[in-house]
Amino acid sequence: MSFPPRQLYYDGKVQPATSGKTFQTIDPSKATPLADIHVASHSDIDSAIASAERAFKTWSQTPPAARARILQKAASLLRERNDEIARVETLDSGKAYTETSTVDVVTGADTLEYYANLVGSGGLNGETSHLREDAWVYTKKAPLGVCAGIGAWNYPIQIALWKSGPCLAAGNTMIYKPSEFTPLHAQTLAEIFLEAGLPAGAFNVVYGAGDVGAYLTSHPGIAKVSFTGQVSTGLKVAGSAAGNMKYVTMELGGKSPLIILPDAELENAVDGAMMANFYSTGQVCTNGTRVFVPRSMKAAFEKRLLEKIQFVRLGPVFDEATNMGPLSSSVHYEKVTSYIRQGIESDKATLLCGGPDKPQVPKDLQNGYWVKPTVFTDCTDSMKIVREEIFGPVMSILYYDTPEEAVRRANDTEYGLAAGVFTKNINMAHRIIDQLQAGITWVNTWGDSPSEMSVGGWKKSGLGVENGRKGIEAWVTNKSTLVDMSGGVPTVFAKL
Ligand code: NAD
Repeated sequence: MSFPPRQLYYDGKVQPATSGKTFQTIDPSKATPLADIHVASHSDIDSAIASAERAFKTWSQTPPAARARILQKAASLLRERNDEIARVETLDSGKAYTETSTVDVVTGADTLEYYANLVGSGGLNGETSHLREDAWVYTKKAPLGVCAGIGAWNYPIQIALWKSGPCLAAGNTMIYKPSEFTPLHAQTLAEIFLEAGLPAGAFNVVYGAGDVGAYLTSHPGIAKVSFTGQVSTGLKVAGSAAGNMKYVTMELGGKSPLIILPDAELENAVDGAMMANFYSTGQVCTNGTRVFVPRSMKAAFEKRLLEKIQFVRLGPVFDEATNMGPLSSSVHYEKVTSYIRQGIESDKATLLCGGPDKPQVPKDLQNGYWVKPTVFTDCTDSMKIVREEIFGPVMSILYYDTPEEAVRRANDTEYGLAAGVFTKNINMAHRIIDQLQAGITWVNTWGDSPSEMSVGGWKKSGLGVENGRKGIEAWVTNKSTLVDMSGGVPTVFAKL
């Protein structure tokens, strides 16, 4: 094993798990085990929550400026240790090191710093309303309590920080459960928070699969659940959490449309479509997997796409030349390749390139979960590969005749995570974006999601937003107080 076994982390230290169960995390580029991970029992989770409740008493009373200093220190420590953390993320998730070392830790630290700066500069201030000469109302924002963060495997440390950053900045404490497929980052993050000055118990880690997550979502000690994962799991989690009157944020899946208008720069359109489908081996929630192309552009678009697809380089994940890693696990490999077979055999889409067979990779990687970048063309809206989230490097091209038709078909989905348009016509860009039913939209670019940008899905793609000024609201509750200074109490019970 490359790493020592992982136990739990709560109350400021590593704690033994008592379930007696373990699972292994795997290097997906080679299909070799990396570490044994110990699963939390119910009583371990109870203990972790008790430590978070104790920490909440002091952390929630720590002035925002003091909280901000600690979180800023944690952001600096993350940046100092960027390469080391990125290496672990690459081994655990299979994402190319060229990505994890430039995006995953960086964008996580950015969000932590953003919320530290926001609360440190008055971002949690409420409002005051003057009612009349001798009465006023003030509304304060208060933290919620102990919150649960449940992560997906595609952006492990980034997801952990997009949740814990605003959670802790607002004065809450957290129990974090990473995905069972990519758990290795979690203890390092807990240690960094502690080193930065966060009180013991303010950020805790428990390991396990869906049953551990389910126990958290129904636990009476948990005030809020912030979840990132599939729609099908999100429906269960939201049902359980809301049924127990907990606050929820749901960041779920999508099948996002990318519309290329006839006047778009061909080069940009192809680059955008490739980033929207092959970046991170297609394992990005906001991927633009339905690419709407004007029929008039078909030949030119396909020709340039096929030329540029040669620039997708699979290979050793730490190699500077590698820009696409394997899929994250064997289960996911089976899922993605079965969708590719579905596209060929049942949907009968035209396979432009790629396919279900393993690509050429060096000998020591041949057992890994590698898949070719795959493009289907001449797709129709009813095909399963066009309707369902595949979450792999599989692009579907759909041809259209008028922009109105493209918008109507783009919106014909139960998802509403992301959408985008490529055009030189600024008025058309805004007109199209205005009509697209999605919470995250882009014009002439795809995928960039800075801390300042509030992101969240419409329809079945989610509830609430993460990031940006709006993101902090999901981690606080409001308390309104009416103060009357008139000296008397207005009453209807003053006389017979
Ligand atoms: P998943 O739903 O299988 O698992 C997500 C997490 O939920 C894991 O930690 C898992 O252990 C836990 N879980 C499973 N069952 C549970 C239950 N009953 N109660 C509580 N927790 C439970 O998702 P995944 O396969 O890990 O992640 C991929 C999905 O995540 C894709 O659909 C992708 O689109 C989505 N995603 C969304 C965003 C976003 O911001 N919208 C970001 C990243 C990924």
